[in-house]
This record gives sequence, C-alpha cells and structure tokens, in this order.
Amino acid sequence: MKTLATAKELREAIGNVKKTGQLLGFVPTMGALHSGHLSLVEECKKTCAICVVSIFVNPTQFNDKSDLKNYPRMPEQDLKKLEDAQVDFVFFPSEKEMYPEEDTRVFHFGVLETVMEGLHRPGHFNGVAQIVSKLFDIVQPDKAFFGEKDFQQLAIIKKMVKMLDLNVEVVPCATIREDDGLAMSSRNLLLTPENRKNAPRIRKLLLQAVERQHQATVQEVEKETVAALNAIENFKTDYFEIVHSDTLQPVTSWDEKGPKTACVAVYAGKIRLIDNIRFL
Ligand code: AMP
Repeated sequence: MKTLATAKELREAIGNVKKTGQLLGFVPTMGALHSGHLSLVEECKKTCAICVVSIFVNPTQFNDKSDLKNYPRMPEQDLKKLEDAQVDFVFFPSEKEMYPEEDTRVFHFGVLETVMEGLHRPGHFNGVAQIVSKLFDIVQPDKAFFGEKDFQQLAIIKKMVKMLDLNVEVVPCATIREDDGLAMSSRNLLLTPENRKNAPRIRKLLLQAVERQHQATVQEVEKETVAALNAIENFKTDYFEIVHSDTLQPVTSWDEKGPKTACVAVYAGKIRLIDNIRFL
C-alpha cells in the first residue's frame, strides 16, 4: 500500500496504473474508518484491480464548525485497517493541498437539495460536490463506491456525475450495521454511553414505520415516528420523511407509484445521526 499526500504524486502513480488498462476503483472517506467503510473497499476489490481510498475531513461540507472540530481523526488506525484490507493507494492530503485557493464553485442540484439534508444543512451538498469533483479529477476512477447510509448524498453524486458528464460509474453499497441495528458511523464514537445505548431505537422505529405502511396514512406514520423518536431521552428529531427513492420528493399517499424510502436525522444529545429504510 502506498500513502500519498499530494495530488501530483497520486496523479503520477495512477497514470502508471491507467496505462496498464486495469480497472481503478475509488472509495472517498473522511476517515475514522469502521466496517461500513471497509465494506466499500471490499466491494471495490471485487470488480476493480486497483483500489484507491482517500481520507480527508472536508471542511467545506460542514455547516457546523463544532462538528468539524470534533470530528474523530485517527490516521494511524485508519492506515493500518486499509493496509490489512490490501488497498493499493491511500490519498491523505492536507487542507491546503485540496484547497490551495478558496473553492467558490456553486453547484445546483434542483429539487434534490431542497429537502432533508439539503434543507437542514445549508451548503453541505455544495461542499460534498466540491470535494468529490476534485477527488474524481485527481483519481480518475472507473468506479466510485458510496454508502446507501448517506442516501441523499448518493443521489447528489449520481446527479453530479451526469451534470458534469464524468466517465465514472457510481456504485451504491448497502448500509453496514452494528449487531444491535445501529448504522455504523464515525460519529457513533462521539455518543455518550447513555445515548449510544438508546441509538438502536432509531432503526427499530424505521422498521416499525415500514410495518405501519397501509395500516396508517403516510402523515400519521411520520407523526408517530417523530413523536417516538422525541420521546427517547436526549433525542430530538431533525426530520423524518417518507420520500420517493429516486426524486427524494415527499410521498403523500401510499398509493403513489414507485419505490419509497424513509429518511431520518436525529440529534442524540449533540451528535447528529442519520439513517434510512426502504419500503418494500
Ligand atoms: P464518511 O467517511 O462518513 O464520509 O463516509 C465515507 C463513505 O462511507 C460514504 O460513501 C458513506 O456513505 C459510506 N458509509 C458510511 N457509513 C456506512 C455504513 N454504515 N455502511 C455503508 N457505507 C457507509
């Protein structure tokens, strides 16, 4: 495994690989790696000869400065995990390397960004698009792997790839969970023991919402789920919405056609957790 800190070094290394015509897969991360991240690496290695992982806590996607400051960073452990997973290249740039100049680009994702994370975290997806477009430009991957845990992010990345006409296949990967059902997240490390104990209830309430399909209206399911989440000590719902899986627009009736997904964001104390579930 080679760890590189500059775009120039990575471009050179990748240029040599690309000449051989091997498929190159890319897994962008913000580090504090867990089995969710490593599952993306595994997926990558299934179909790509070369696997590149980036670790970069991207400041432009944090709308909350204290979230950025407190975001867990553990580079040595991360590099060990990636070495064990037999990753070929790790890109571990500094902030100055990624943003030698302020990135003033503004992306527009239409209705995809006017709901949920886009609405509740102003500027977040613009920052995501800034960094992922830069990383794609440096890495030039054939395929890029993203987790379904960040459901809206996945939709935004797919749209960005189409908008910019990039030659990269975006591969969605299933959400990996702890044994108790909590979706793995780097932020789980920041939960207090009490809030960590209660956090699996988010998944339970999502499963319950799916069961309640057709027993109650969409609005009733949304209302009762929000109430149940808010009833957990120290928990506060940011949003819970049942949306059309492709357009992310709100579902108003179960009779509406097409796949549906419930998406949730909850504050467990100061830590914001997200999750989602598909309706069958
Ligand atoms: P992050 O480091 O949080 O920016 O995440 C990097 C990538 O890992 C993103 O594509 C996430 O969607 C994905 N990811 C994060 N948590 C999980 C999980 N529990 N299961 C699967 N993928 C995940």
